[in-house]
Amino acid sequence: AKSLGRNGYACFDSALRQQNEQRLVMLRDMRQALTDAQFVMYYQPIVTMQTRQIHKAEALIRWQHPDKGMISPGHFIPLAEETQLIHQLGEFAFQQTLQTLSHLQQRHGAFQISLNVSPVQFNAKHTSLLKWQEQLHDANLQPEDVVIEITEGLMMQGEGRSQARLGQLIQQGFSIALDDFGTGYSSLAYLKQMDTDLIKIDKRFVDGIEHNEDDLVLCETMIMMAHQLGLKVIAEGIETATQHELLKQAGCDYGQGYFYAKPMSLADLEALLYNS
Ligand code: C2E
Ligand code: CA
Ligand code: CA
Ligand code: CA
Repeated sequence: AKSLGRNGYACFDSALRQQNEQRLVMLRDMRQALTDAQFVMYYQPIVTMQTRQIHKAEALIRWQHPDKGMISPGHFIPLAEETQLIHQLGEFAFQQTLQTLSHLQQRHGAFQISLNVSPVQFNAKHTSLLKWQEQLHDANLQPEDVVIEITEGLMMQGEGRSQARLGQLIQQGFSIALDDFGTGYSSLAYLKQMDTDLIKIDKRFVDGIEHNEDDLVLCETMIMMAHQLGLKVIAEGIETATQHELLKQAGCDYGQGYFYAKPMSLADLEALLYNS
């Protein structure tokens, strides 16, 4: 434990300084990681509920740190967002997605990949996001095969730009999924305004459905409502056979979660697709 400074401020000051140093080290490591290719994309299969077929996956970034091992995005995305490094990470994630899509479509036919886009990148005045469509076109890929996952939080941080940006991306033909659905304050209002293709029911609802009638009713209602608006539904974080059965009965279109498969390397995804 640290000794308290004479006036109490010294301690606070040194704790702050230490925190700051940790952030600087992490930032330096992240820059190095970009040049040393320590970031990788993992892919989590998304299954068609009725048939368990896999024609979709969500791309999830990982950091293979030389000393610390695999670091999950929750640990480095926030600092990347604060420091604008997120633009490079987001661009990396897209370039990998483009290559993976091209690879999978050649070998396995129809495939769609979901990509998480940071609000910082999404709402920036100048962003490489607006060049993605052309790059997909040049690679003979369809923009609708890239699903851009956004959250309500993202739509609220844009100082008015987000709505227009979303419109541009829809215009360019990208598919749009509303992530973590049901956890925000204005899901319904947003659904009405936004021309999305998919909603992703958040894991916290799925967690409860086996034991809590209310959670099941909520899921059923979200699915019905989405269908009436012409949207497809993905349920996230399915971990048990019972959750799978209940959501399938409720008419949910797609499922994602450890019950089917964890996020995995492209090589493992290919092996899974090949064997299923
Ligand atoms: P998310 O978009 O909600 O992604 C779903 C998270 O739930 C992933 O965590 C996934 O591994 C995890 N998950 C999936 N199925 C299950 C399950 O059955 N049980 C449990 N307990 N967890 C499950 P992950 O990969 O650690 O990603 C965390 C968050 O980091 C993501 O949440 C997303 O917001 C962000 N993220 C991930 N990759 C990227 C990226 O490339 N760019 C940006 N901007 N954000 C990313
Ligand atoms: Ca997501
Ligand atoms: Ca569309
Ligand atoms: Ca989510």
